[in-house]
Amino acid sequence: MDKMRKLQEKDLKHIWHPCSQMKDYENFPPIVIKKGNGAYLEDINGKKYLDAVSSWWVNLFGHSHKRINDALYRQANKLEHVIFANFSHEPAIELSERIVSLLPENLNKVFFGDNGSSAVEIALKLSFQYHQQTGKTKKTRFVALTDAYHGETIGALSVGGVDLYNKIYKPLLLDVIRSTGPDCYRCKFNKHRDSCNAECFSFIEEDVSKNHEEISAIIVEPLVQCAAGMKIYPPIYLKKLRKLCDKYNINFIADEIAVGFGRTGKMFACEHAGIAPDIICLSKGLTAGYMPLSLVVMTDEIYNAFYDDYSKMKAFLHSHSYSGNPLGCAVAIESLNIFEDEKILDKNTKKQTYLKELAEKELLDIPQVGEYRQIGMIGAIELVKDKKTKEPFDSLKRVGYNIYKKALEKGVLLRPLGNIIYFMPPYIIENEDIDFMVKVCKDSINQYFKDI
Ligand code: PMP
Repeated sequence: MDKMRKLQEKDLKHIWHPCSQMKDYENFPPIVIKKGNGAYLEDINGKKYLDAVSSWWVNLFGHSHKRINDALYRQANKLEHVIFANFSHEPAIELSERIVSLLPENLNKVFFGDNGSSAVEIALKLSFQYHQQTGKTKKTRFVALTDAYHGETIGALSVGGVDLYNKIYKPLLLDVIRSTGPDCYRCKFNKHRDSCNAECFSFIEEDVSKNHEEISAIIVEPLVQCAAGMKIYPPIYLKKLRKLCDKYNINFIADEIAVGFGRTGKMFACEHAGIAPDIICLSKGLTAGYMPLSLVVMTDEIYNAFYDDYSKMKAFLHSHSYSGNPLGCAVAIESLNIFEDEKILDKNTKKQTYLKELAEKELLDIPQVGEYRQIGMIGAIELVKDKKTKEPFDSLKRVGYNIYKKALEKGVLLRPLGNIIYFMPPYIIENEDIDFMVKVCKDSINQYFKDI
């Protein structure tokens, strides 16, 4: 038995992989990766895979990056971790300062979590407690959009709107107000995202105007509902949302866990709309794909509602063992250094144009490609049964999953979201890698539909 098979057997003896039906692994066992280099992963047999999904949207500058490796090593030799209550350290102090300087002026106070879901939990709890401590005790509910995704813990799952992930848990979830969100490919108003006035904002506007007295916060993924299939919507929606939140004293929570750190072409997606949320959640790219870390950055106004004598019992008593982990902070600082030193966002503008032009040229003629949409370094192909009616494929056919398997054989990791195949590559991807990625994607789609 070769080494790969042996390891796969051992793996499946004990490991329960995330977001997987483990029975699938009977025919399609996990690929055991030995190392990563730049945009490529290499399995233990030496086969290479272009990581077109940045290993779950976390990697920014490629795998095993020299500068980040060195920063991690340097920090590990100094301090790996310290309790973050009553103690601090330079990497957390510097990271907070740097992040605040990149965000809109009003976002000034940083709370540390250790993954995206925990950041969302923190944001929801902060908003709730803020209103409790400022006399708005009726504000106990959250508004979230259809097709939203904010993580897997119970609070985060409650604000999520993707049935696939939360349906079974409904009896456990918070009573969230679910507003119909933007759905630009199948726009109910027959508009286009590039020229509309976010007519679909009327849905949330109505829900909020009816229930505003009990609404603590509205949480959104700015500009791209990633887990729902990279559903891109226009900045005007966020502008309107900012106004609505102001009107009714509702906290605007921007979940930039997936879209932050340059994915949409700007450092943070909210910049496209020129708006500042009250609370922003950051994770994933924060550490360039190295360490689990998250930040929740909020306004002074929110922070001040917790700041008082101990006896007033207003403190935010939330904590995680790994809050403010120095290794994560050191790596995040180095990632910000790379952004600056290597002018990453400027360089990405050329790459994203190259990708868009190529993908449109190569993919739009495929009969099952309903739409190719892209913002910044996120591109998505929506596969449909009928291009005219936009009728989707039955999810049980697992169209995306089958194409994904074909692409893996050809050396590209293109993990799908249902019927949507997407590109979210590390920023160090070169034009020839983009050529390869798009070609494999095209060939895999064509081959799948030819074979069935
Ligand atoms: N929010 C968004 C927008 C996400 O995309 C994700 C992860 N895909 C999360 C929250 C949850 O992050 P984590 O997986 O680190 O808990």
